[in-house]
Amino acid sequence: MNYSESENFETKAIRIQAEKTHNREHSVPIYMTSSFTFDDAEQARALFADEIPGNIYTRFSNPNNSEFVQKVCELEGAEDGIATASGMSAVYTSLAGILKSGDHILVSRSVFGSTHQILTQIFPRFGIEFTYADIAKLETWESLIKKNTRMIFVETPSNPSLDLIDLDWLGKLSKKYNLILNVDNCFCTPYLQQPIKYGTDLVIHSGTKYMDGQGRVIGGVIVGKKELIQEIRFFARHTGPSLSPMNAWILSKSLETLSIRMERHSHNALKLAEFLETQDDVAKVIYPFLPSHPQYELARRQMKLGGGIVSFIVKGGIDRGRKFLNSLEMFSHTANLGDTRTIATHPASTTHSKLSEIERALVGIDAGLIRISAGLEHIDDIIREVKEALIKSR
Ligand SMILES: *Cc1c(COP(=O)(O)O)cnc(C)c1O
Repeated sequence: MNYSESENFETKAIRIQAEKTHNREHSVPIYMTSSFTFDDAEQARALFADEIPGNIYTRFSNPNNSEFVQKVCELEGAEDGIATASGMSAVYTSLAGILKSGDHILVSRSVFGSTHQILTQIFPRFGIEFTYADIAKLETWESLIKKNTRMIFVETPSNPSLDLIDLDWLGKLSKKYNLILNVDNCFCTPYLQQPIKYGTDLVIHSGTKYMDGQGRVIGGVIVGKKELIQEIRFFARHTGPSLSPMNAWILSKSLETLSIRMERHSHNALKLAEFLETQDDVAKVIYPFLPSHPQYELARRQMKLGGGIVSFIVKGGIDRGRKFLNSLEMFSHTANLGDTRTIATHPASTTHSKLSEIERALVGIDAGLIRISAGLEHIDDIIREVKEALIKSR
C-alpha cells in the first residue's frame, strides 16, 4: 500500500515526508536556506504569479515548513495551513489576517494570557472589539452575538480550570450566525480532539507544547478552510511571522511520536488524578476523564483521552499552594506545559497573580489550585513526588 491510502493517525504522522533528494536520505534534511534559485526568467515569473507551485523565499514557504503543515492538515482533517514562529503568532495571525476595524469577536473566558493581552491591549487600537462568554453559561452565548460579530474564538479544555465547551453545539451556533469558528486546540493536539469534525473553520496550535513535547522549540501552526487560509497566508507572507526551517523540522519529527506520547501523558495524568482524589489534603481534583468531572460525558464524547493536564486544589489556600510547590524535588518549576518532564505551577501566585481574587474566581482559579502537566516519567515516581510534597507542605 501507499501511505496516502491510510486513514490512520500514526501512519500519516510518520509517513508524510518532503520529497527525497538525489541523496536518497531516509530522514528529511533541514533546508537552511533563505531563498531558492530560479531556472530562468520565465520560471521566476511563473512562481511569482502563483502559476506553478514551488519555493521562492523561506518567509513564504520552505520544504520543512510545508512538510510540517501538510502533516498537521492531514491529522486535523484541514484543507490548508501555514506554520508560524510561535503559538502566539498563530493566534495573532489567525485573527489579524481576517478581521478588520469594526469587527467583533466572541471569546471563551480564560483564554491564554497573551491572547487576553491581544484582545484587551492591542486590538482596541485597531478598532476590533471582543466579548468574553462564560463557559459554564452556554445559554448566554447566543445573546452575546452582535451584528458585527465575525468570529468565535475558544480554547477547550480551558486552562487551568479544565472546563469543556461542546464543540458540536458550538459548530452549529457558528453556522447559524455564519461566524468563523476558531479553536485553539493546543491542549488536546489532533490526536485527542479534531475540532474540524464539528464544523470548526480554523484550528490553531502552539507547537511549543505537546507537538514538540520535549521543551525545545517555539512554534505554531494554523490550519483550516482553504479560503480563510489564503487570506491568512497573504497577511503572513507580507508581515513575516514565519517558522524557522530548523524548528519546522523538529516539530515534524516530533509529530511522528505524538500518538504514543499523548497516550502516556493521558495515562499518567489519569492515574495521578485518581490518586489525588483519595487524598485528605486535596479539596478537589479536576480532570476531564474523571467521572467526578461535571462534563465527563462530554469529555468522553469529544476527546479520545483526557489529556496531560490535571488541576487540583490543595487545602490551605495560597500559602499551602506555594509551600507545596517549594516541597517538590523532581518536578520542574517552569512556565511551560506538554513536556516529557512533569511540570507543576501555582497560577494564583504566578500566571494569574495580576487578576483580582474575583477575576480569578470567574475563571475558576482557587488560591490553592495547582496545575500539573503530567510528563512521561514512571507513574509511580510522579505519584510519590506528589505524595511527599503534600506531606512536607502540611
Ligand atoms: C502556550 C500557549 C499559547 C502560546 O504559544 P507560544 O508558542 O508560547 O507562543 C497559545 N495558546 C495556548 C492554549 C497555549 O497553551
